[in-house]
Amino acid sequence: MAESLRVLLLSPEVFPFAKTGGLADVAGSLPKSIKGLGCDIRVAMPYYRMTKKGDFQVKVIFEDVEIPLFGEVLNDSIFSAEADGGVPLYLINKDEFFDREFLYGTSKGDYFDNMERFVYFSRMAFILCKMLDFQPHVFHCNDWQTALIPAYLRTLYRKDPFFSGTFSVFTIHNIAYQGIFDEKKLGVTGLPMEVYHPGGMEYWGKINLLKAGIVFSDVVNTVSHAYSREIQTPEFGYGMEGVLRDRSNDLYGILNGADYGEWNPKTDPLIAANYDEKDLSGKAKCKEDLLAEFNLPGSLKKLPLLAIISRLADQKGLDLLAEIMEDLMKMDLGFVLLGTGDEKYHKLFKSIAKEYPKKAGIKIAYDNTLAHKIEAGSDIFLMPSRYEPCGLNQMYSLKYGTVPLVRAAGGLDDTIQDYDPKTGEGTGFKFQSYDARDFLDTVRRALAVYRDGETWKRLIIRGMKADFSWQRAAKEYMDLYRRARAKRKLIPVGKPRAGTFSG
Ligand code: ADP
Repeated sequence: MAESLRVLLLSPEVFPFAKTGGLADVAGSLPKSIKGLGCDIRVAMPYYRMTKKGDFQVKVIFEDVEIPLFGEVLNDSIFSAEADGGVPLYLINKDEFFDREFLYGTSKGDYFDNMERFVYFSRMAFILCKMLDFQPHVFHCNDWQTALIPAYLRTLYRKDPFFSGTFSVFTIHNIAYQGIFDEKKLGVTGLPMEVYHPGGMEYWGKINLLKAGIVFSDVVNTVSHAYSREIQTPEFGYGMEGVLRDRSNDLYGILNGADYGEWNPKTDPLIAANYDEKDLSGKAKCKEDLLAEFNLPGSLKKLPLLAIISRLADQKGLDLLAEIMEDLMKMDLGFVLLGTGDEKYHKLFKSIAKEYPKKAGIKIAYDNTLAHKIEAGSDIFLMPSRYEPCGLNQMYSLKYGTVPLVRAAGGLDDTIQDYDPKTGEGTGFKFQSYDARDFLDTVRRALAVYRDGETWKRLIIRGMKADFSWQRAAKEYMDLYRRARAKRKLIPVGKPRAGTFSG
């Protein structure tokens, strides 16, 4: 039956308008599937330089809006465009905040005024709704950049009749990024002092925006079942484990999906040749093309080609990779890596490319076309992550017949089934402990199967048939929206414990 829920999804990045990681893919794809279930879902994001430079059809919808903020009245405009599937997308303009080279900071660190930037965006969510006369049933907030919205709903807008039927869902895409700021900046948020205590948004004498999202939202979710359990433990909770345990009755896991409109070797316009599980011949052409892209010798096409596409961050298990790199380079294989991030990893991988120019191709960049070519042209996709909230590349890899080799963390554990030579079942290779030897042994195990061409082919075809499309997740989000609505309570601000905010 058609739903009449109205939802405003707020995200600091939305593919293809701006992207640094998986959140953009989620915010770019999920709304289309939710809309398909009859929901009036709309999306809002900041209007970055990257978006302005892109080839998008954008129009101004409100000019010179008066915005009372930071103790003055600011003026700026709101733009709109169409996201995938005809979902309305609102672009919040403010050049002094968003007309920058990057989204959140440079490789040397975060922008100093990230608090102001995302307070501005969060406050604009409310102003936008009023300008549009759009009364949302749900603010669907994503990550720390939008985490103040549930707090505003419970405080500044608590008595505003326009939002009396609005509740909030807060999705955590990565708990390690929390938006922590000096308490001197509390005034910037515009929130009353009552929210600043250990049961609210204070965290060891600092402001923690992510914590505000967890404490003040009606329901909280994260992007896989395994990660929703892991973040309630000290090892993976990054200090939020207690707050999350307090809210465990309202904490859900919904596995992300893969957008097969973007990531499908049968239709992908960015790869050298299209293919599917019935005819894999195009994959060999894609491998040749990929080797050429990286200036690697064509003779590598007969050997297994291992690949990584990643933000170069500690989370991704790159220290494990560094430990086994020398052993890998002694084997008969090729290796390609595309990534950008921490300076220390830039240096490390550049030196590997220099040392092994005939075996290792490294590109330190963000390059969507090359990411597609790597998915299509390589044989084994490595994800040795220390933790992984969901991970998307393992799902893309399955579709492209590139066998994922993963550590059993978060969404990687939920999505990849370890190959069992006895039964012939499984979709990839998986190791348990965060240990370089286990990682290397698993690579050896994968290479042994690769050498048996027929078995390998059966393995990749099974992966290509797996279905991780967004439809399932969209239904689960609709259930979550309904749950949040059922839980909505007008709770006074300043209760001493986070748990008392749950329904
Ligand atoms: P995370 O959100 O932690 O970065 P995910 O696996 O959830 O990891 O999503 C990563 C997304 O970003 C994938 O779509 C991947 O292809 C893409 N990506 C990461 N790094 C790059 C890069 N350097 N160039 C192109 N795409 C990249």
